[in-house]
Amino acid sequence: MITLTEVNKFFGTNHVLKDVNIHVKTGEKVVVLGPSGSGKSTMIRCINMLGRPDSGRVIVDGEDLMEPHAKLKKIRQEAAMVFQQFNLYPHMTVLENLSIAPVMVQGIKRDIAEKSGMEFLDRVGLADKATAYPGQLSGGQQQRVAIARALNMHPKIMLFDEPTSALDPEMIQEVLDVMVELAHTGITMVCVTHEMGFARQVADRVIFMADGQVLETGTPEHFFTHPENDRAKQFLSKII
Ligand code: ADP
Ligand code: MG
Repeated sequence: MITLTEVNKFFGTNHVLKDVNIHVKTGEKVVVLGPSGSGKSTMIRCINMLGRPDSGRVIVDGEDLMEPHAKLKKIRQEAAMVFQQFNLYPHMTVLENLSIAPVMVQGIKRDIAEKSGMEFLDRVGLADKATAYPGQLSGGQQQRVAIARALNMHPKIMLFDEPTSALDPEMIQEVLDVMVELAHTGITMVCVTHEMGFARQVADRVIFMADGQVLETGTPEHFFTHPENDRAKQFLSKII
């Protein structure tokens, strides 16, 4: 479903991704770990071309995204992203937030987008907040809305970039619970997160990045108990 081959990216002279190779199969759940500044966000943004590599190949659902005529709009709908900052539209109700993109971008009829929006709100436990405004919700609730909004695009891939990092500790679990349930639906997921419990629970595979490189990849059982790379050992000793 996702193939990054020899991907390189520079910001000025800063070589941020160095020959990164990543393969994610359909339905696979991958958790990306690594110290701050290691290129995790830059890498995940390449998957839907929010950031463009300087070289390498990015193939998502059979589409070669480095091609000049690649269907980026289609891929951005297929690979929905949830960020640390929820970026909900503050002047729109929750349900309007969920239906705006399907209506405006995908050309779906409003009543249909709202109907499926209500189903996803129900899935994240917030059906009763459909007419609320984002400012009336807690951070955890806003992030669950952001997940429901992404799902209402009916993506094949969900990309998460530290979705719980901006939340107060007591709200982290409610968002992780939604992500765990989502994982069980069989959707392809790539999650940058420091939540080791989540990684152990749902990841088929963990990818460890440092200094713009993929240094280790393996099952969570193996990675957490027998990390092989020294940087990975160092990283784990600090966070576990
Ligand atoms: P991570 O998500 O692992 O913390 P990032 O991908 O955000 O790492 O950043 C990797 C490196 O790229 C860092 O050195 C960061 O300063 C740099 N970087 C990220 N985004 C930009 C940008 N838009 N402009 C310039 N440098 C950037
Ligand atoms: Mg980041």
